[in-house]
Amino acid sequence: MPDATKDVPNLRRQEDGFAWQGVERLAYKQDGDAPFRDVSRQILFSRADLAGELRYFEIGPGGHTTLERHGHVHGVMIVRGRGRCLVGSEVSEIGPLDLITIPGWTWHQFRAAPGEPLGFLCLVDATRDRPVLPTAEELAILRATPEIAAFLDG
Ligand code: MN
Repeated sequence: MPDATKDVPNLRRQEDGFAWQGVERLAYKQDGDAPFRDVSRQILFSRADLAGELRYFEIGPGGHTTLERHGHVHGVMIVRGRGRCLVGSEVSEIGPLDLITIPGWTWHQFRAAPGEPLGFLCLVDATRDRPVLPTAEELAILRATPEIAAFLDG
């Protein structure tokens, strides 16, 4: 976990669009085998004396995050664009300022609409477990619901 406590000024101004002073635009995942398309990650708040982290993710038009689950919870606020999300067995249309809770061990994925990026803030525990991907069997169970299969096929 990066300890940015000493280095980060108390005020970091927004730079054009969804960018901020001193905040790097990072690859979404470090590990190469998690399937996703066109997603960037920016760590807005992360410090040793804070139990949570706040990140900004942006999915390019038509892109998507990894279908995954894990023990830790996500608190998500959409801040830009439109799209859809899968949380558990529920597919929902989402847009600016919608709040999405992803409980522990719940399958989830975000998909941007074709014409615009989808940007969202995501609050997590600073110390957290790693995501796991669905097995072939778990994927088959998800796909047995037509609405979920249609969602996963974009
Ligand atoms: Mn997740």
